[in-house]
Amino acid sequence: MTNKEELRDEIPSYALISLARRGMEKISLDQCFLKNCDNDSSELLEPFKKEEFEDDKKKITKIHIKCKKCGGIFILKLETLKSVAKSTMNIEEEPLSMGLVFALDEEGNNLGHIGYF
Ligand SMILES: [Zn+2]
Repeated sequence: MTNKEELRDEIPSYALISLARRGMEKISLDQCFLKNCDNDSSELLEPFKKEEFEDDKKKITKIHIKCKKCGGIFILKLETLKSVAKSTMNIEEEPLSMGLVFALDEEGNNLGHIGYF
């Protein structure tokens, strides 16, 4: 059993979005990603289930969240890459983001790539 507070701790507080030349922008993950819903209050979001998948390349955590404003359910999918090919990594470059955040609807349909965490 995982309680709600533990689930909340699994969710990064924000994701980073790349803005081409303007760098990165932070967006809060404390919001409902369903269409036609503007809920951005964490108090109206209730994480209730977690699924984890793992293979040798990446770890995927899916957090199911119920929105108390629109009554819908969406899923935050956190994809963490376990290893980055070091041979292709340039030390001069900015550190590579290791995690991707996606939003899915209740049926698992992709609502879009949100950003990096
Ligand atoms: Zn909502």
